[in-house]
Amino acid sequence: MAASLVLVFMIAGLGAFALVQMRRDAMDNAGVAAANLALTLERSITRNLQIHELSIGGVVEAMHDPALLTQPPALRQRLLFDRSINAEDMGSLLVADANGKLVYDSHQWPPRPVDVSDRDYFQAHLGADHGGVFLSRPFQPRLTPENKSIGISRRLSAPDGSFAGIVVGTLRLQYFRKLFDGVSLGAGGTLTLVRTDGTIIMRRPYEAESIGRDISSSPSFAPLLQGTQGTFIGVAALDGVQRLYSFRRVPGFPLLVVVGRATHDVLAPWYKRAWIFGALICALDAAIIALSLLLSRQWRRRVEMEEHLRWMVNTDALTGLGSRRALDDAADMEWRRARRHSQPLSLLMLDVDHFKEFNDRYGHQAGDDALAAVGACIQGHIRRPGDYAGRYGGEEFAILLPHTGAAGAAARAQTIRAAVEALQIPNPAGANGVLTVSVGAVTDANIPGSEQGFAELRAFLRAGDEALYLAKRSGRNCVATFGTATAAMAS
Ligand code: GH3
Ligand code: MG
Ligand code: MG
Repeated sequence: MAASLVLVFMIAGLGAFALVQMRRDAMDNAGVAAANLALTLERSITRNLQIHELSIGGVVEAMHDPALLTQPPALRQRLLFDRSINAEDMGSLLVADANGKLVYDSHQWPPRPVDVSDRDYFQAHLGADHGGVFLSRPFQPRLTPENKSIGISRRLSAPDGSFAGIVVGTLRLQYFRKLFDGVSLGAGGTLTLVRTDGTIIMRRPYEAESIGRDISSSPSFAPLLQGTQGTFIGVAALDGVQRLYSFRRVPGFPLLVVVGRATHDVLAPWYKRAWIFGALICALDAAIIALSLLLSRQWRRRVEMEEHLRWMVNTDALTGLGSRRALDDAADMEWRRARRHSQPLSLLMLDVDHFKEFNDRYGHQAGDDALAAVGACIQGHIRRPGDYAGRYGGEEFAILLPHTGAAGAAARAQTIRAAVEALQIPNPAGANGVLTVSVGAVTDANIPGSEQGFAELRAFLRAGDEALYLAKRSGRNCVATFGTATAAMAS
């Protein structure tokens, strides 16, 4: 059971380890895929913004060209915007004067009567010349409000360095929307283009309200400013969904591309696999436990059966003493042990007197009962550990007494003989009319160099028989010791 429990825990542990690894792999792969997507989007956006920047740069350069002013206005307009690229989502290229009034418009001449002085891309250049481009927040163009746009602007400086207006190129947010469309990200995936101040420029899934929203206070925004690229897990400000985010800075612009994949989407296949895998492991563990329970029960039953068989083989059913077989084994073992430790070993051979008459008189059943009573009496009088009593056969018993010398053996024999007599089982043929026993005692002193010993166990047992025979010849109900010329008579 312990071994199978260890196995069960090992399997469960291995399974859990594999599942954790699989989960980590799923997250890692999703992270890599998101980072690659962020890179691709960033490259595309960077390239587009650079093209716009180049167009604006061309206009700025032309505006600073004195030769331009010598041309008629309509031609001036054509020359100015000559180098600008009319990309699909490019809105307008506009030149405004220091008051924000349009002076050139890529779409028409004369320019539309529009004032851009309130726009952030105009305000940004009012101060000193930083020489850079400004990327605006999303706004609604005055003339085509449906085309939400952002503006990329540059400052125009007068020869003395003072503010002379701006050149702005507008870019429809539609461009980003189209760029983001068609990317497969799962149900909870998001793509966000956000200014580094937290203003959302485009987001997928598209919601008109989220454009221009400020998410700078959201906890998932702060990590976006740590470095030029990265991957992290955070909870979205807009919908509260936990996502795996991968972001990239758009070089040269205060913009971030953020790819978000809902962890739920990323882990969906893993969850499915984890359930199947977990169920299989549980089933396997349950099967192992069930099998080992079954096995251990069978094992226990077998051990019990073996014990019972051993007990049956080694026990005499009638008296409860050792069987002949067990007696032989015990004699062999004690004989060798006594030899090894140079300890005396004694043997008592005991035979019921006139038992044939008892049987004839009282019947076989009563004979059995008498034998059982004699067996119990013998058992009751051998109390030292190592003493062993067995039924030698018929109405004969043998008692092994290790560590017992001749005197001790004789004394023990007398005690048992007297105890059987004291049972007062009537036997008309016996002495005093009761059932009695004769006992032959033999001792191997096991003293090295001593004459008083036996060469082998068989001789020792034969000596016991001879002592018993001597006791019978001496009149029964007595103890005879082997080697003693005369038997010590009882009472
Ligand atoms: P002795 O005093 O010389 O030993 O005489 P005895 O009658 O006891 O000797 P004998 O060996 O002639 O008789 C032994 C009898 O013991 C024979 C048999 O009927 C009886 N006997 C042996 N085993 C059993 C047994 O298991 N149950 C019963 N009831 N009687 C048994
Ligand atoms: Mg006999
Ligand atoms: Mg007998």
